[in-house]
Amino acid sequence: MFDSTETPLDQAHSIRIIGAPFDGTVSFRPGARFGPAAIRDASDGVEVWSPLLDASLECVRYADAGDVELPMGDTGRALEMIREAADAALDAGAAPFLLGGEHLVSLPAIAAVHARHPDLLVVQLDAHADQREDYMGVKLSHACVIRRVAEFLGQERIRQIGIRSGTKEEYRLMREHGTLTTFREADLEELKVWIGRRPVYLTVDLDVFDPSCFPGTGTPEPGGIDWWTFQRFLQVLRGCRIVGLDAVELAPQLDASGCSSVLAAKAVREMLLVAACPVA
Ligand code: MN
Ligand code: MN
Repeated sequence: MFDSTETPLDQAHSIRIIGAPFDGTVSFRPGARFGPAAIRDASDGVEVWSPLLDASLECVRYADAGDVELPMGDTGRALEMIREAADAALDAGAAPFLLGGEHLVSLPAIAAVHARHPDLLVVQLDAHADQREDYMGVKLSHACVIRRVAEFLGQERIRQIGIRSGTKEEYRLMREHGTLTTFREADLEELKVWIGRRPVYLTVDLDVFDPSCFPGTGTPEPGGIDWWTFQRFLQVLRGCRIVGLDAVELAPQLDASGCSSVLAAKAVREMLLVAACPVA
């Protein structure tokens, strides 16, 4: 799928795919470092046309920069390198689209996009709050990524959807700031009104899906959404100004059937289309 419409990096493109194969801080089962390669592999079996969005990837000017070669044992340096890759995309006038990797890779990408769009909003799809102050004393952990983002963005610019796991303190924080919302139709419409014309970064932790359709992830959490709920969410978001996005936490070797990788590749297609073909 990606290869058929690939644009060289030196040609104009509106979205740049960046692989961030990092899983150095995962708290349960590692393997997200294999996510970008598995998404590209699985994308070969996915059509370029989306029936529901009535749009084709052939109309999207995107380029694939490949994977950032990350030092797995050095979280700080890995995040710096992802930031550099996101900055390079933005310098070229393209929105970065990160393929994780664990969720911590979103932190430098969101920071890079925020530097160009000071009024940025973040919409997070996830099973987990990721709002911990620290995880076993570590502040740069995928369990803390949204908390770190809130430190420079502010909680009031964040909306979290699909969350069904967290600590009592995380839930207290999210309720205090009103960051939580749902996939119910009225809430989706309200989300779209809240976004309005402001720039938005869409971060999709794929464990938002139910483990029955997406078992290939390090921290599966029962009670998640199905494909149609995700697609309805994207349909509602169509027309919003998406200036950065990511799909993270696929750990392909944890699903021997390969279906999780296919779901991830199809999710990437739909996200590309919604970000780059806002009008049918
Ligand atoms: Mn997450
Ligand atoms: Mn998660």
